[in-house]
Amino acid sequence: MDSQDRYICHHAFEEDAGHHGAVTPPVYQTSIFTFPDLETFSRAQLKEREHYIYSRGLNPGIKLVEHKLAALERGEACKAFASGMGAIAATLFSLLRQGDHVLRINQTYGPTVELLDQLGAYGIAHDGIRGDDDIEAALRPTTRLIYVESPSSMLMELADLDAIARLASTRNIITVIDNTWATPLFQKPLQHGFDLVIHSLSKYIGGHSDVVGGAVIGSSEMVDRLFAVGHQLLGAALAPQNAALVLRGLRTLPLRMAEHQRNALHVVRFLAAQPQVLEVHHPSLASGQVANWAEKQLSGHTGLLSFRIQQPTYSRIARFIDALQLFRIGVSWGGYESLAVSPMRPDGSGQPLIRLAIGLEDIDDILADLARGLNALDH
Ligand SMILES: *Cc1c(COP(=O)(O)O)cnc(C)c1O
Repeated sequence: MDSQDRYICHHAFEEDAGHHGAVTPPVYQTSIFTFPDLETFSRAQLKEREHYIYSRGLNPGIKLVEHKLAALERGEACKAFASGMGAIAATLFSLLRQGDHVLRINQTYGPTVELLDQLGAYGIAHDGIRGDDDIEAALRPTTRLIYVESPSSMLMELADLDAIARLASTRNIITVIDNTWATPLFQKPLQHGFDLVIHSLSKYIGGHSDVVGGAVIGSSEMVDRLFAVGHQLLGAALAPQNAALVLRGLRTLPLRMAEHQRNALHVVRFLAAQPQVLEVHHPSLASGQVANWAEKQLSGHTGLLSFRIQQPTYSRIARFIDALQLFRIGVSWGGYESLAVSPMRPDGSGQPLIRLAIGLEDIDDILADLARGLNALDH
């Protein structure tokens, strides 16, 4: 783990001396900030993204989270949002115009696709390809934005970030990546030439399944634009209390990610060796050119993976999941707790996969629980 990243998660930007030595920054539970005179107020209003005026715009705890996330991604600026979807909606709303086309690469988070479908009513088109498809051939003269998930969150697919950024820069196309799977600790897409990085803070960064939040990181110029339009006008502002929970999550992010990685690699090895398991989706198993992408882009692996069992009918998937005792059934991921879920529906639609979020429990307990699930398939 990068020592600079550890310093950012712990001490960086916290030298404020005004808190009586409090090691935890106070929560400024206030909607407005007042000024000693009108000129100070007027000057602050000229740069609302950086001044405390109103908590829909900025608040001290939120600014601290933004500085840390920008530094972790090695970006100039960050804007925090009330949720990952708030960040995604603000990004798309701020950057796209009628007639624009969005090219999606890899399976996109479901609500993001639904949002792009909604934008169809405003004359914005989108379609999707895989990371190993011909990206140049999929571009249209109207392509304004390339939206990537790498790794994606259901099949953990990768894409070649350097190649995408290079291609986009020759066409004046904005590149956006949802980096939620990897966290900034394991992947820094701005260093591969991407323009904007989006995170759902509700996952590993919050880290305790008790907060929903989002963030966008990029150049000051881009983040200014997102702030003025998508943040201020759509209004999905992170609440001060939630910023404090995100900050608390960041303190232990390096420790937690090391442990999620260790547990996940054990699980991947275990599942890949089981005769009832057809394939396991996790970037640590990548081969060929995908392994090269993983090698140059990912400095670690997180705990979200999926796999396919033999004869993956809904009833067999349910038999596996319902036999689990340690794993709980639920969406999202990133907390201490292991979770299992399937995108398949009782009518047989949806992907016949089991998705696991590997938590921080004892690895022997985790493996024993998965063995229990596999045993249930034989009975
Ligand atoms: C959860 C998630 C989101 C949405 O974030 P919310 O905080 O739930 O709004 C976006 N992208 C990915 C990959 C996610 O997992």
